[in-house]
Amino acid sequence: MNFGLTSEQQDILGMIKDFCLKEVKPIAAETDEEEKFPAETVKKLQDMGMMGMYMPEEYGGAGLDYLTYILTCEEFAKYCATTSVMFSGHSSLCCWPILTFGTEEQKQKYLVPLASGKKLGAFGLTEPSAGTDAAMQKSFAEKQADGSYILNGSKTFITNAGYADIYVVFAMTEKGIGTKGISAFILEKEMPGFSIGKKEKKMGIRGSSTCDLIFENVHIPAENLLGKEGKGFAMAMQTLDGGRIGIAAQAIGIAEGAIEETVKYVSERMQFGKRISQFQNTQFQLADMQAKVEAGRLLIYQAAQAKQDGQPYGHLAAMAKLYCSECASDVTRRCVQLFGGYGYTREYPVERMMRDAKITEIYEGTSEVQRMVISGWMGVK
Ligand SMILES: Cc1cc2nc3c(=O)[nH]c(=O)nc-3n(C[C@H](O)[C@H](O)[C@H](O)COP(=O)(O)OP(=O)(O)OC[C@H]3O[C@@H](n4cnc5c(N)ncnc54)[C@H](O)[C@@H]3O)c2cc1C
Repeated sequence: MNFGLTSEQQDILGMIKDFCLKEVKPIAAETDEEEKFPAETVKKLQDMGMMGMYMPEEYGGAGLDYLTYILTCEEFAKYCATTSVMFSGHSSLCCWPILTFGTEEQKQKYLVPLASGKKLGAFGLTEPSAGTDAAMQKSFAEKQADGSYILNGSKTFITNAGYADIYVVFAMTEKGIGTKGISAFILEKEMPGFSIGKKEKKMGIRGSSTCDLIFENVHIPAENLLGKEGKGFAMAMQTLDGGRIGIAAQAIGIAEGAIEETVKYVSERMQFGKRISQFQNTQFQLADMQAKVEAGRLLIYQAAQAKQDGQPYGHLAAMAKLYCSECASDVTRRCVQLFGGYGYTREYPVERMMRDAKITEIYEGTSEVQRMVISGWMGVK
């Protein structure tokens, strides 16, 4: 496959890099320290028309290719993983399922404002007792005589919660038939009975909003059913297949950011009358890290290219996410080590990057889930 970027892709990524250096990097430490959702950054990206980067122009998007979007997730994460997950949660997990499974009416009503930057999106699948085992949904949407639904239940750990205007949410519509009883809905934050619950205090991506969603007799009009009734679980899994490429890019971006900071630091810090970079251990550690990052990047580009070309990509996305998230945790831990005591302080960004890296092994399917997907694809039973 050819991963040579076109001049248009390079121009867009150059623009994203400038934006990151001016708007994202300077506030990354404060975003983490104060657990502050980067609302101003979201507004700027919305104004630039970047929140619908790979959504078609006819639906308010920028109409760019999927690889450019994935490279943007990676670029944001080099400086601020919080910004990257806000962006991919909105794009991969909310815009994409509406684009793919929505009716024309739903696309006009919800995708256009999401993609054109007027609204922010979120995705609600996880529940307290339905994490990895997402089929164990307790939220129940009871169908009414007029075709509408009354939704009761809750979600937990929802990214962008509270700041998002539109939520793609999953619930049981028929009990006792397993995953075939799960359906997807589009919810608006103003719907009566829909509220935001507990906000999590987290180890990393601390500026990202992660909250419970609470549904108390939420009346969902029939036209807000997304896709067909009973097809919600399959839609959620397909959505996560794509989302995982974004998380892999987030992970590799974090690793790249940490390496960049470390190369700078070891080239200046002196011990035993030498720069730390002159020790062969430092050189070999950094060489290993760079080789891993490049390998991870190829897995990401391969998965992104397959998705863009309409080829099967679920297994490729799982391999990219598994490898890149574990790479990010390993690389950031080693970077902290090369910084010594200073790496353990908040004076330098590598400790934040080490904390941020961990979540990429957990959300949108843990590493164990990725191994299940890969071994399943291999036919290992
Ligand atoms: C910061 C953050 C943001 C998130 N954002 C969202 C969001 O926007 N929307 C959303 O819907 N969800 C979101 N999540 C939820 C996330 O996807 C889940 O936390 C994740 O899928 C794991 O589920 P769990 O936490 O319930 O862990 P559990 O399912 O309880 O798993 C615990 C451990 O057991 C392992 N395990 C479970 N089953 C098996 C098995 N069969 N074989 C081997 N090992 C197994 C897991 O891999 C894990 O190591 C978010 C979570 C966090 C922390």
